[in-house]
Amino acid sequence: MGIQILSPQLANQIAAGEVVERPASVVKELIENSLDAGATQIDVEIERGGSQLIRIRDNGSGISKAELGLALSRHATSKVATLLDLEQIMSLGFRGEALASISSVSRLTLTSKTQTQNEAWSALAEGRDMAVNIQPAAHPTGTCVEVADLFFNTPARRRFLRTDKTEYAHIDEVIRRVALSRFDVQIKLSHNGTLQRHYRIARNESGQHRRIAAICSKNFIDNAININADYDGIQLTGWLGLPTTARNQADMQYCYINGRMMRDKLINHAIRQAYTDKIPTDLYPAYVLYIQIDPKQVDVNVHPSKHEVRFHQARLVHDFIFQSLERSLQQGIEQQTLDSIT
Ligand code: ADP
Ligand code: MG
Repeated sequence: MGIQILSPQLANQIAAGEVVERPASVVKELIENSLDAGATQIDVEIERGGSQLIRIRDNGSGISKAELGLALSRHATSKVATLLDLEQIMSLGFRGEALASISSVSRLTLTSKTQTQNEAWSALAEGRDMAVNIQPAAHPTGTCVEVADLFFNTPARRRFLRTDKTEYAHIDEVIRRVALSRFDVQIKLSHNGTLQRHYRIARNESGQHRRIAAICSKNFIDNAININADYDGIQLTGWLGLPTTARNQADMQYCYINGRMMRDKLINHAIRQAYTDKIPTDLYPAYVLYIQIDPKQVDVNVHPSKHEVRFHQARLVHDFIFQSLERSLQQGIEQQTLDSIT
């Protein structure tokens, strides 16, 4: 076989291999798009664990009729225009790959209306050349993305899907992560026509506590220390579980860097180190932590699924986190001991 240029669909399907692992990854990408569009309400409807249908509706800025086709093309993004933008990225998305990838492995319909348009329009990409077909539709300002029959044309991937229950559990976890990162956004999740989660906008601390209790348990929030520290432009806030909330699985560890959920080795190490000698080595601490740092100080462009970051001043970030958490933890433990004897 001589050298050939891949068809757009095949190129997108190959890219999809990296970002679209399962229904939950689709949900993650689409919700990130809704958040980037400034949505304050996001409704997620799932059928059959997401293998039959994923529908995400938001009240964000919408996409104009003229740009619907572009939104579905590869490397098309409204979020990054220059290298400088990439170095100070504030949005969740920036690769311009998600919609193109997802639409190459599903039947995707993108419906949207901007504030200034009088009517909504719907787009779907089909066939090898990913030609986009645009039709009038009914929709309020905002966007609705429907992803039906995920992996219908990539049987090998389709076979990798687990049971509806398992796939739905992954989606539920994605929703928890988002819900913990944006108290100012209402999120609803339904499965097979039944409302499963309804996270209301949390306008104050008690609202936040209610949401955290719903996601992490009441026991966690009742036994967590409120963290609030900053150093040299890095801000660390959130809730750190006292040793009594430690778990036998690492299933309650939420860490956000500039609003993005991360599983970063360096950060994990700093947190773990703060708990040294405070919890048994076979238990895992529970926490919800937020790190705010100048985007120029961190490179988020490391991994396609964006779980890893690179800090320019890694040592400094590590030590700041370790020291602040250790100090707060020590104080929290002393306070808890005091409370128990008085
Ligand atoms: P990226 O998020 O990396 O820019 P995507 O493929 O996810 O790439 O989306 C492509 C573009 O489509 C975005 O840059 C944005 O302009 C537009 N878009 C996608 N989803 C939405 C949405 N829910 N609301 C408004 N615009 C959207
Ligand atoms: Mg995106």
